[in-house]
Amino acid sequence: MTGQDRIDTSVPHPARRYNYWLGGKDHFAADRASGDEIAAAFPTVRTAVLANRAFLRRAVRFLAEEAGVRQFLDIGTGLPVPDNTHELAQRVDPASRVVYVDNDPIVLTHARALLTGAPEGRTAYLEADLRDPAAILRHPDLRATLDLDRPVALLLVAILHFIHTDEAALPIVRHLLSALPSGSYLVATNATVDFADEAGAAAYRAMFAAGRTDGYARSAAQFGAFFEGLDLVPPGVVAVCDWHDAYPDATPADVAMYAAVGRKP
Ligand code: SAH
Repeated sequence: MTGQDRIDTSVPHPARRYNYWLGGKDHFAADRASGDEIAAAFPTVRTAVLANRAFLRRAVRFLAEEAGVRQFLDIGTGLPVPDNTHELAQRVDPASRVVYVDNDPIVLTHARALLTGAPEGRTAYLEADLRDPAAILRHPDLRATLDLDRPVALLLVAILHFIHTDEAALPIVRHLLSALPSGSYLVATNATVDFADEAGAAAYRAMFAAGRTDGYARSAAQFGAFFEGLDLVPPGVVAVCDWHDAYPDATPADVAMYAAVGRKP
C-alpha cells in the first residue's frame, strides 16, 4: 500500500494542520477546520508554530556548531519546510546523518524532498510510530544510516503532546535514550498552559476534555521529567521563544510551549 492509498482527508492530521498554521499548502478542509477551531480559542497559535520551528532550527544549529553532533534522529518530522533538519546540520558539516520518522502518510508522499542530502552525508526516512520505539530502533534503514555507538541528537519537537499520558510518554523517551550513547542529546518541545491566564487554561481544559484539541498540555514538572538523568543545556526548561533567543518577537504566553535540550552524561 502506498501512502497515497491511506490518506484520509476527512480526519484532521497534525502534520497538515501544522502546515496550515505555518502557511503551507498541504492541508485539507478537515485540517483547516480543526486548525481554525484551535486558533479561535488560542489566537496566537500561528506565532506558536513559527516559534516552535525557530527553536528547532536554533537547537540543531547549537548541536551542530557548538556541541559537535553529527547524527540526528528527528521523530515527528512534519512536512518539508525551507530549513529541514538535514539541511541545517549538513550546512555545518556535509557529512552529517539524519533519520526522519513520521506516521502520517502525507509526510511519506513528500519524503523524497527530505532525502536530498549532501552526497557526503546520509538521510533516511522511516514511516513508523513514536509509540513503538523498538521498531524505530531496529529498523534496517536507521541502522544503515546512524552509528549508535556515536552521539545522536534525538528530536521530539512538537510531538510528545500527542502522547496523552506521562505513563505512556516517559517510557518511550527512556527507551529511545537508552539506545543512545553518552554525549547524545534530547531536544523536545511540548504544549503547556503554564503561561496562560486562568480563563485561557480553563478554555483549553474544556476543549481537551471534549476531544476538540489533541495536544496534551504539560506543566514544567511533567515536561522536565523527560529530561531526568540528563544534563540540561542552559537556560534549561523555558518557553520555545526564549531558548537561545530562538524567536524574540513572541512572549511565553503567545507560544504556550516548553522547550529544552539535555545531554546524556
Ligand atoms: N517536528 C516538526 C513537526 C511537528 S508537527 C516541527 O516541530 O516543526 C507533529 C508531527 O508529528 C506531524 O508530522 C505528525 O504526523 C507527527 N506525529 C504525531 N504523532 C506521531 C506518532 N505517534 N508517531 C510518529 N509521528 C507522529
